[in-house]
Amino acid sequence: MCGIFGIFGARKAAELTAIGLHGIQHRAVEYAGIVSSEGHGMHRHAGPGITRDVFDHAAVEKLHGLHALGHIRYSTVEDKPDRDPAQPILGMFNGVPFAVAHNGTLTNWRDVATRRDLRFVTSIDTECIVRLIEWHGRNGIADFHAALAVALSEVRGSFALGILLPEELIAVRDPAGNRPLSIGRINGGYCITSETCALSNVEAEFVSDVAPGTMVRITQAGLELRPYAKPCEHKCRFEAIYFGHPASCIFGEPVQRFRIDLGKALEEACPCPGGDIVSPIPDSATFIAYGYGSSGRSGVFFPVITRSHFVGRTFIVATQADRDEKVSSKFAFSAEEIAGKSIVLVDDSIVRGTTLPKIVRALRRCGAKAIHVRIASPPMRHSCSYGIDTPDETKLIANRVAIDGMAEWSGADSVVYLPMDSLRARSPHPDSFCYACMNGTYW
Ligand code: SF4
Repeated sequence: MCGIFGIFGARKAAELTAIGLHGIQHRAVEYAGIVSSEGHGMHRHAGPGITRDVFDHAAVEKLHGLHALGHIRYSTVEDKPDRDPAQPILGMFNGVPFAVAHNGTLTNWRDVATRRDLRFVTSIDTECIVRLIEWHGRNGIADFHAALAVALSEVRGSFALGILLPEELIAVRDPAGNRPLSIGRINGGYCITSETCALSNVEAEFVSDVAPGTMVRITQAGLELRPYAKPCEHKCRFEAIYFGHPASCIFGEPVQRFRIDLGKALEEACPCPGGDIVSPIPDSATFIAYGYGSSGRSGVFFPVITRSHFVGRTFIVATQADRDEKVSSKFAFSAEEIAGKSIVLVDDSIVRGTTLPKIVRALRRCGAKAIHVRIASPPMRHSCSYGIDTPDETKLIANRVAIDGMAEWSGADSVVYLPMDSLRARSPHPDSFCYACMNGTYW
Protein backbone atom coordinates (compact mmCIF):
# COMPACT_ATOMS: atom_id res chain seq x y z
CA MET A 1 0.00 0.00 0.00
CA CYS A 2 1.29 3.45 -0.87
CA GLY A 3 0.10 7.04 -0.78
CA ILE A 4 0.15 9.94 -3.22
CA PHE A 5 -0.18 13.64 -2.53
CA GLY A 6 0.44 16.48 -5.00
CA ILE A 7 -0.04 20.23 -5.34
CA PHE A 8 -0.54 22.33 -8.45
CA GLY A 9 -0.28 26.12 -8.42
CA ALA A 10 0.23 27.01 -4.77
CA ARG A 11 3.07 28.69 -2.90
CA LYS A 12 5.24 26.40 -0.79
CA ALA A 13 4.02 23.44 -2.86
CA ALA A 14 6.71 21.07 -1.53
CA GLU A 15 6.03 22.00 2.09
CA LEU A 16 2.29 21.49 1.60
CA THR A 17 3.02 18.17 -0.11
CA ALA A 18 5.11 17.03 2.86
CA ILE A 19 2.22 17.98 5.18
CA GLY A 20 -0.21 16.11 2.92
CA LEU A 21 1.99 13.00 2.91
CA HIS A 22 2.15 13.17 6.69
CA GLY A 23 -1.68 13.21 6.70
CA ILE A 24 -1.79 9.86 4.87
CA GLN A 25 1.26 8.38 6.62
CA HIS A 26 -0.86 5.45 7.91
CA ARG A 27 -0.69 4.04 4.34
CA ALA A 28 3.09 3.46 4.20
CA VAL A 29 6.20 4.06 6.27
CA GLU A 30 9.18 2.69 4.32
CA TYR A 31 10.12 5.55 1.95
CA ALA A 32 9.03 9.09 1.20
CA GLY A 33 9.80 11.24 -1.84
CA ILE A 34 8.81 14.57 -3.40
CA VAL A 35 9.49 16.03 -6.86
CA SER A 36 8.84 19.75 -7.40
CA SER A 37 8.74 21.97 -10.46
CA GLU A 38 8.97 25.70 -10.99
CA GLY A 39 7.78 25.41 -14.59
CA HIS A 40 10.82 23.97 -16.34
CA GLY A 41 13.31 21.76 -14.45
CA MET A 42 12.45 19.31 -11.66
CA HIS A 43 13.90 18.85 -8.17
CA ARG A 44 13.73 15.58 -6.28
CA HIS A 45 14.40 14.49 -2.72
CA ALA A 46 13.59 11.03 -1.33
CA GLY A 47 14.77 8.65 1.33
CA PRO A 48 13.92 5.82 3.73
CA GLY A 49 11.56 6.44 6.64
CA ILE A 50 8.46 8.44 7.39
CA THR A 51 7.78 11.85 5.85
CA ARG A 52 8.79 13.99 8.81
CA ASP A 53 12.18 12.25 9.02
CA VAL A 54 12.93 12.47 5.28
CA PHE A 55 11.72 16.06 4.87
CA ASP A 56 13.33 18.40 7.34
CA HIS A 57 13.28 22.15 6.72
CA ALA A 58 16.48 22.10 4.64
CA ALA A 59 15.20 19.33 2.34
CA VAL A 60 11.89 21.10 1.67
CA GLU A 61 13.62 24.45 1.05
CA LYS A 62 15.50 22.97 -1.92
CA LEU A 63 12.30 21.83 -3.62
CA HIS A 64 11.41 25.04 -5.45
CA GLY A 65 8.27 25.76 -7.43
CA LEU A 66 4.51 26.05 -7.30
CA HIS A 67 3.93 22.41 -8.23
CA ALA A 68 4.95 19.24 -6.37
CA LEU A 69 4.20 15.53 -6.33
CA GLY A 70 4.88 13.30 -3.34
CA HIS A 71 4.77 9.60 -2.58
CA ILE A 72 5.05 7.34 0.46
CA ARG A 73 5.94 3.76 -0.24
CA TYR A 74 5.39 0.35 1.25
CA SER A 75 7.10 -2.06 -1.11
CA THR A 76 5.09 -4.83 -2.76
CA VAL A 77 7.91 -5.94 -5.07
CA GLU A 78 11.35 -6.98 -3.88
CA ASP A 79 13.87 -4.14 -3.79
CA LYS A 80 17.45 -4.59 -4.98
CA PRO A 81 20.15 -3.01 -2.80
CA ASP A 82 21.79 -1.05 -5.64
CA ARG A 83 18.50 0.39 -6.99
CA ASP A 84 16.65 3.51 -5.83
CA PRO A 85 13.59 2.16 -3.94
CA ALA A 86 11.70 5.47 -3.63
CA GLN A 87 9.14 7.29 -5.76
CA PRO A 88 8.25 9.50 -7.64
CA ILE A 89 10.25 8.08 -10.57
CA LEU A 90 11.65 10.56 -13.07
CA GLY A 91 11.37 10.22 -16.86
CA MET A 92 12.00 12.27 -20.00
CA PHE A 93 9.46 12.56 -22.83
CA ASN A 94 10.88 14.09 -25.99
CA GLY A 95 13.11 16.39 -23.92
CA VAL A 96 10.43 17.26 -21.32
CA PRO A 97 10.95 15.93 -17.76
CA PHE A 98 8.12 14.21 -15.89
CA ALA A 99 7.64 12.26 -12.67
CA VAL A 100 5.29 9.40 -11.77
CA ALA A 101 3.96 8.34 -8.35
CA HIS A 102 1.96 5.11 -8.15
CA ASN A 103 -0.37 3.43 -5.65
CA GLY A 104 -1.22 -0.16 -6.60
CA THR A 105 0.61 -3.02 -8.29
CA LEU A 106 0.96 -3.80 -11.99
CA THR A 107 0.41 -7.50 -12.63
CA ASN A 108 2.04 -7.74 -16.10
CA TRP A 109 4.97 -5.33 -15.83
CA ARG A 110 7.66 -7.96 -16.35
CA ASP A 111 5.98 -9.17 -19.57
CA VAL A 112 5.60 -5.61 -20.88
CA ALA A 113 9.20 -4.74 -19.99
CA THR A 114 10.46 -7.80 -21.84
CA ARG A 115 8.25 -7.24 -24.90
CA ARG A 116 9.28 -3.58 -25.23
CA ASP A 117 12.88 -4.22 -24.10
CA LEU A 118 12.55 -1.54 -21.41
CA ARG A 119 15.64 -0.82 -19.27
CA PHE A 120 14.91 -0.09 -15.60
CA VAL A 121 17.01 1.86 -13.11
CA THR A 122 14.79 0.79 -10.18
CA SER A 123 13.23 -2.55 -9.26
CA ILE A 124 9.76 -1.01 -8.94
CA ASP A 125 6.85 -2.07 -11.16
CA THR A 126 5.85 1.61 -11.50
CA GLU A 127 8.92 2.24 -13.66
CA CYS A 128 7.24 0.19 -16.39
CA ILE A 129 4.78 3.07 -16.93
CA VAL A 130 7.58 5.66 -16.99
CA ARG A 131 9.66 3.73 -19.54
CA LEU A 132 6.59 2.89 -21.65
CA ILE A 133 5.68 6.59 -21.95
CA GLU A 134 9.29 7.31 -23.00
CA TRP A 135 9.22 4.38 -25.44
CA HIS A 136 6.12 5.69 -27.17
CA GLY A 137 7.72 9.15 -27.32
CA ARG A 138 10.68 7.64 -29.16
CA ASN A 139 8.42 5.63 -31.44
CA GLY A 140 6.17 8.14 -33.09
CA ILE A 141 3.82 9.61 -30.47
CA ALA A 142 4.50 13.34 -30.08
CA ASP A 143 1.81 14.17 -27.49
CA PHE A 144 2.47 13.20 -23.87
CA HIS A 145 -1.18 12.46 -23.03
CA ALA A 146 -1.58 10.23 -26.08
CA ALA A 147 1.59 8.33 -25.09
CA LEU A 148 0.27 8.03 -21.53
CA ALA A 149 -3.09 6.66 -22.71
CA VAL A 150 -1.39 4.05 -24.92
CA ALA A 151 1.00 3.10 -22.11
CA LEU A 152 -1.93 2.64 -19.72
CA SER A 153 -3.70 0.41 -22.23
CA GLU A 154 -0.71 -1.95 -22.10
CA VAL A 155 -0.48 -2.43 -18.34
CA ARG A 156 -2.76 -4.54 -16.15
CA GLY A 157 -3.50 -4.56 -12.45
CA SER A 158 -4.03 -1.70 -10.06
CA PHE A 159 -2.84 1.87 -10.52
CA ALA A 160 -3.78 5.22 -9.09
CA LEU A 161 -1.18 7.66 -10.44
CA GLY A 162 0.04 11.19 -9.91
CA ILE A 163 2.09 12.49 -12.83
CA LEU A 164 3.95 15.80 -12.70
CA LEU A 165 5.02 17.72 -15.81
CA PRO A 166 6.71 21.13 -15.64
CA GLU A 167 3.38 22.96 -16.04
CA GLU A 168 0.82 20.25 -15.31
CA LEU A 169 -0.28 17.72 -12.70
CA ILE A 170 -2.22 14.66 -13.85
CA ALA A 171 -4.31 12.30 -11.68
CA VAL A 172 -5.17 8.87 -13.12
CA ARG A 173 -7.23 5.92 -11.87
CA ASP A 174 -7.23 2.53 -13.52
CA PRO A 175 -10.46 1.25 -15.12
CA ALA A 176 -11.10 -0.86 -12.01
CA GLY A 177 -10.83 2.17 -9.72
CA ASN A 178 -9.06 -0.23 -7.38
CA ARG A 179 -7.32 2.42 -5.26
CA PRO A 180 -8.77 5.77 -4.19
CA LEU A 181 -7.59 9.12 -5.58
CA SER A 182 -9.29 12.46 -4.98
CA ILE A 183 -8.90 16.08 -6.01
CA GLY A 184 -9.08 19.10 -3.74
CA ARG A 185 -8.97 22.87 -4.17
CA ILE A 186 -6.35 24.83 -2.29
CA ASN A 187 -5.61 28.51 -2.18
CA GLY A 188 -6.09 29.21 -5.89
CA GLY A 189 -4.57 25.87 -6.91
CA TYR A 190 -5.40 22.17 -6.70
CA CYS A 191 -4.20 19.13 -4.85
CA ILE A 192 -4.50 15.38 -5.39
CA THR A 193 -4.51 12.86 -2.58
CA SER A 194 -4.90 9.14 -1.99
CA GLU A 195 -7.20 9.91 0.92
CA THR A 196 -9.44 12.85 1.65
CA CYS A 197 -8.36 12.98 5.33
CA ALA A 198 -5.23 14.87 4.20
CA LEU A 199 -7.26 17.73 2.68
CA SER A 200 -7.89 19.33 6.06
CA ASN A 201 -4.16 19.11 6.88
CA VAL A 202 -3.46 21.60 4.08
CA GLU A 203 -6.74 23.54 4.42
CA ALA A 204 -8.02 22.27 1.07
CA GLU A 205 -11.62 21.55 0.05
CA PHE A 206 -12.81 18.36 -1.57
CA VAL A 207 -13.67 18.73 -5.28
CA SER A 208 -14.25 15.17 -6.53
CA ASP A 209 -12.90 11.65 -6.76
CA VAL A 210 -11.04 10.76 -9.96
CA ALA A 211 -13.41 8.43 -11.84
CA PRO A 212 -12.21 4.93 -12.82
CA GLY A 213 -10.67 4.90 -16.31
CA THR A 214 -10.18 8.67 -16.27
CA MET A 215 -7.18 11.00 -16.28
CA VAL A 216 -7.67 14.50 -14.87
CA ARG A 217 -5.34 17.18 -16.24
CA ILE A 218 -4.68 20.05 -13.86
CA THR A 219 -3.18 23.14 -15.53
CA GLN A 220 -3.37 26.92 -15.20
CA ALA A 221 -6.62 26.64 -17.20
CA GLY A 222 -8.20 24.45 -14.47
CA LEU A 223 -9.38 20.84 -14.55
CA GLU A 224 -9.88 18.81 -17.70
CA LEU A 225 -11.37 15.31 -17.44
CA ARG A 226 -10.24 12.81 -20.06
CA PRO A 227 -11.82 9.33 -19.90
CA TYR A 228 -9.25 6.98 -21.49
CA ALA A 229 -10.74 3.51 -20.85
CA LYS A 230 -14.13 1.93 -20.16
CA PRO A 231 -14.62 1.54 -16.39
CA CYS A 232 -14.99 -1.97 -14.98
CA GLU A 233 -14.97 -1.43 -11.26
CA HIS A 234 -13.13 -3.59 -8.71
CA LYS A 235 -12.63 -1.22 -5.81
CA CYS A 236 -10.58 -2.61 -2.92
CA ARG A 237 -13.05 -3.58 -0.21
CA PHE A 238 -10.29 -3.49 2.41
CA GLU A 239 -9.60 0.22 1.89
CA ALA A 240 -12.62 1.08 4.03
CA ILE A 241 -12.48 -1.98 6.33
CA TYR A 242 -8.87 -1.54 7.40
CA PHE A 243 -6.46 0.66 5.47
CA GLY A 244 -8.23 4.00 5.26
CA HIS A 245 -8.22 6.74 7.87
CA PRO A 246 -11.59 7.01 9.69
CA ALA A 247 -11.79 10.68 8.67
CA SER A 248 -11.48 9.82 4.97
CA CYS A 249 -14.28 9.39 2.48
CA ILE A 250 -13.20 6.48 0.28
CA PHE A 251 -15.04 5.64 -2.95
CA GLY A 252 -17.67 8.15 -1.87
CA GLU A 253 -18.27 6.36 1.44
CA PRO A 254 -17.30 7.98 4.79
CA VAL A 255 -14.99 5.41 6.40
CA GLN A 256 -16.08 6.05 9.97
CA ARG A 257 -19.77 5.63 9.08
CA PHE A 258 -19.01 2.50 7.04
CA ARG A 259 -17.17 0.91 9.98
CA ILE A 260 -19.99 1.68 12.43
CA ASP A 261 -22.50 0.10 10.04
CA LEU A 262 -20.18 -2.87 9.47
CA GLY A 263 -20.05 -3.37 13.25
CA LYS A 264 -23.86 -3.39 13.38
CA ALA A 265 -23.96 -5.94 10.57
CA LEU A 266 -21.38 -8.06 12.44
CA GLU A 267 -23.48 -8.02 15.60
CA GLU A 268 -26.62 -8.97 13.67
CA ALA A 269 -24.84 -11.86 11.91
CA CYS A 270 -22.62 -12.98 14.82
CA PRO A 271 -24.17 -11.85 18.13
CA CYS A 272 -22.69 -12.61 21.51
CA PRO A 273 -25.48 -12.81 24.13
CA GLY A 274 -23.99 -12.57 27.60
CA GLY A 275 -21.13 -10.32 26.53
CA ASP A 276 -20.35 -7.56 29.06
CA ILE A 277 -17.86 -5.38 27.20
CA VAL A 278 -17.29 -4.86 23.47
CA SER A 279 -13.70 -3.78 22.96
CA PRO A 280 -11.84 -3.15 19.71
CA ILE A 281 -8.34 -4.22 18.90
CA PRO A 282 -7.18 -0.66 18.20
CA ASP A 283 -7.06 1.36 16.06
CA SER A 284 -8.79 0.34 12.85
CA ALA A 285 -11.47 -1.76 14.63
CA THR A 286 -12.53 1.05 16.99
CA PHE A 287 -15.58 2.22 15.05
CA ILE A 288 -16.53 -1.35 14.09
CA ALA A 289 -16.64 -2.23 17.78
CA TYR A 290 -18.64 0.93 18.46
CA GLY A 291 -21.20 -0.24 15.89
CA TYR A 292 -21.17 -3.79 17.31
CA GLY A 293 -21.93 -2.52 20.80
CA SER A 294 -24.52 0.07 19.76
CA SER A 295 -27.57 -2.17 20.24
CA GLY A 296 -26.45 -3.25 23.72
CA ARG A 297 -27.56 -6.85 22.97
CA SER A 298 -24.03 -8.25 22.98
CA GLY A 299 -22.35 -6.01 25.56
CA VAL A 300 -21.58 -2.31 25.67
CA PHE A 301 -18.79 -0.55 23.80
CA PHE A 302 -15.94 0.04 26.21
CA PRO A 303 -12.33 -0.07 24.92
CA VAL A 304 -10.09 -1.95 27.37
CA ILE A 305 -7.03 -2.05 25.11
CA THR A 306 -5.06 1.06 24.24
CA ARG A 307 -2.37 1.32 21.66
CA SER A 308 0.94 3.12 21.93
CA HIS A 309 1.17 5.74 19.22
CA PHE A 310 4.94 5.49 19.25
CA VAL A 311 4.83 2.10 17.48
CA GLY A 312 3.90 1.96 13.77
CA ARG A 313 1.12 -0.16 12.26
CA THR A 314 2.00 -3.82 12.61
CA PHE A 315 0.69 -4.80 9.19
CA ILE A 316 3.05 -2.44 7.37
CA VAL A 317 6.22 -3.51 9.13
CA ALA A 318 8.43 -5.37 6.71
CA THR A 319 9.77 -8.34 8.67
CA GLN A 320 8.17 -10.91 10.97
CA ALA A 321 10.78 -10.22 13.69
CA ASP A 322 9.87 -6.53 13.70
CA ARG A 323 6.21 -7.45 13.73
CA ASP A 324 6.54 -9.74 16.76
CA GLU A 325 8.49 -7.15 18.70
CA LYS A 326 6.03 -4.38 17.88
CA VAL A 327 2.95 -6.39 18.92
CA SER A 328 4.45 -6.94 22.40
CA SER A 329 5.21 -3.28 22.96
CA LYS A 330 2.14 -1.93 21.17
CA PHE A 331 -0.80 -2.56 23.53
CA ALA A 332 -1.72 -1.75 27.14
CA PHE A 333 -4.63 -3.43 28.97
CA SER A 334 -7.07 -1.93 31.52
CA ALA A 335 -6.86 -4.84 33.99
CA GLU A 336 -9.40 -3.45 36.51
CA GLU A 337 -12.07 -3.18 33.80
CA ILE A 338 -11.30 -6.60 32.32
CA ALA A 339 -11.28 -8.73 35.50
CA GLY A 340 -14.38 -10.92 35.80
CA LYS A 341 -15.95 -9.67 32.55
CA SER A 342 -17.01 -11.44 29.40
CA ILE A 343 -15.14 -9.56 26.67
CA VAL A 344 -16.28 -9.37 23.04
CA LEU A 345 -13.07 -8.61 21.18
CA VAL A 346 -13.66 -7.03 17.76
CA ASP A 347 -11.13 -6.80 14.94
CA ASP A 348 -11.34 -5.97 11.23
CA SER A 349 -9.46 -9.03 9.95
CA ILE A 350 -6.93 -11.72 10.78
CA VAL A 351 -4.04 -11.98 8.33
CA ARG A 352 -1.00 -13.81 9.67
CA GLY A 353 -2.43 -14.30 13.16
CA THR A 354 0.50 -12.51 14.80
CA THR A 355 -1.56 -10.37 17.15
CA LEU A 356 -4.67 -12.22 18.29
CA PRO A 357 -3.25 -15.04 20.52
CA LYS A 358 -1.02 -12.53 22.33
CA ILE A 359 -3.95 -10.25 23.05
CA VAL A 360 -6.12 -13.14 24.22
CA ARG A 361 -3.35 -14.29 26.57
CA ALA A 362 -3.01 -10.77 27.97
CA LEU A 363 -6.78 -10.54 28.56
CA ARG A 364 -6.69 -13.89 30.39
CA ARG A 365 -3.84 -12.63 32.58
CA CYS A 366 -6.05 -9.64 33.45
CA GLY A 367 -8.78 -12.02 34.66
CA ALA A 368 -11.28 -11.97 31.77
CA LYS A 369 -14.14 -14.41 32.48
CA ALA A 370 -14.66 -15.17 28.77
CA ILE A 371 -13.25 -13.88 25.46
CA HIS A 372 -15.35 -13.99 22.29
CA VAL A 373 -13.66 -12.79 19.10
CA ARG A 374 -15.70 -11.26 16.26
CA ILE A 375 -14.00 -10.46 12.94
CA ALA A 376 -15.57 -7.90 10.58
CA SER A 377 -14.52 -9.59 7.33
CA PRO A 378 -14.64 -13.12 5.92
CA PRO A 379 -11.51 -15.29 6.35
CA MET A 380 -8.56 -14.04 4.28
CA ARG A 381 -7.33 -17.08 2.33
CA HIS A 382 -5.72 -15.50 -0.74
CA SER A 383 -2.88 -13.08 -1.46
CA CYS A 384 -3.57 -9.62 -2.85
CA SER A 385 -2.19 -8.97 -6.34
CA TYR A 386 -3.19 -5.33 -6.38
CA GLY A 387 -0.94 -3.38 -4.08
CA ILE A 388 -1.19 -4.91 -0.61
CA ASP A 389 1.76 -6.96 0.55
CA THR A 390 -0.15 -9.91 1.99
CA PRO A 391 2.02 -12.97 2.64
CA ASP A 392 1.87 -16.04 0.42
CA GLU A 393 -1.21 -18.13 1.02
CA THR A 394 0.53 -20.76 3.16
CA LYS A 395 1.27 -18.08 5.77
CA LEU A 396 -2.32 -16.83 6.05
CA ILE A 397 -3.77 -18.13 9.31
CA ALA A 398 -7.12 -19.02 7.69
CA ASN A 399 -5.23 -21.55 5.54
CA ARG A 400 -3.20 -22.93 8.46
CA VAL A 401 -5.97 -23.38 11.02
CA ALA A 402 -9.50 -24.66 10.35
CA ILE A 403 -12.16 -22.04 11.05
CA ASP A 404 -13.73 -24.21 13.77
CA GLY A 405 -10.25 -24.59 15.33
CA MET A 406 -9.63 -20.83 15.56
CA ALA A 407 -10.88 -20.58 19.14
CA GLU A 408 -8.46 -23.27 20.33
CA TRP A 409 -5.57 -21.79 18.30
CA SER A 410 -6.12 -18.29 19.67
CA GLY A 411 -7.05 -19.31 23.24
CA ALA A 412 -10.44 -17.54 22.96
CA ASP A 413 -13.82 -19.05 23.83
CA SER A 414 -15.13 -18.41 20.32
CA VAL A 415 -13.96 -16.86 17.04
CA VAL A 416 -16.58 -15.94 14.41
CA TYR A 417 -16.09 -14.18 11.06
CA LEU A 418 -18.51 -11.91 9.21
CA PRO A 419 -20.17 -13.90 6.40
CA MET A 420 -19.45 -12.73 2.84
CA ASP A 421 -23.19 -12.16 2.27
CA SER A 422 -23.25 -9.65 5.14
CA LEU A 423 -20.22 -7.79 3.77
CA ARG A 424 -21.75 -7.63 0.30
CA ALA A 425 -25.10 -6.51 1.71
CA ARG A 426 -23.34 -3.61 3.44
CA SER A 427 -21.52 -2.60 0.21
CA PRO A 428 -23.28 -0.20 -2.19
CA HIS A 429 -23.22 -1.80 -5.67
CA PRO A 430 -21.59 -4.92 -4.20
CA ASP A 431 -20.34 -6.17 -7.57
CA SER A 432 -18.24 -3.00 -7.97
CA PHE A 433 -15.82 -4.17 -5.25
CA CYS A 434 -12.84 -6.52 -5.21
CA TYR A 435 -13.01 -9.29 -2.58
CA ALA A 436 -10.22 -11.41 -4.09
CA CYS A 437 -8.25 -11.92 -0.87
CA MET A 438 -11.43 -13.36 0.68
CA ASN A 439 -13.06 -15.26 -2.18
CA GLY A 440 -10.17 -15.84 -4.63
CA THR A 441 -11.98 -14.11 -7.51
CA TYR A 442 -9.18 -12.19 -9.25
CA TRP A 443 -9.88 -9.83 -12.13
FE1 SF4 B 1 -8.24 -5.15 -1.60
FE2 SF4 B 1 -8.21 -7.76 -1.02
FE3 SF4 B 1 -8.82 -6.95 -3.49
FE4 SF4 B 1 -6.31 -6.69 -2.55
S1 SF4 B 1 -7.42 -8.61 -2.97
S2 SF4 B 1 -7.48 -5.17 -3.73
S3 SF4 B 1 -6.68 -6.22 -0.37
S4 SF4 B 1 -9.99 -6.55 -1.59
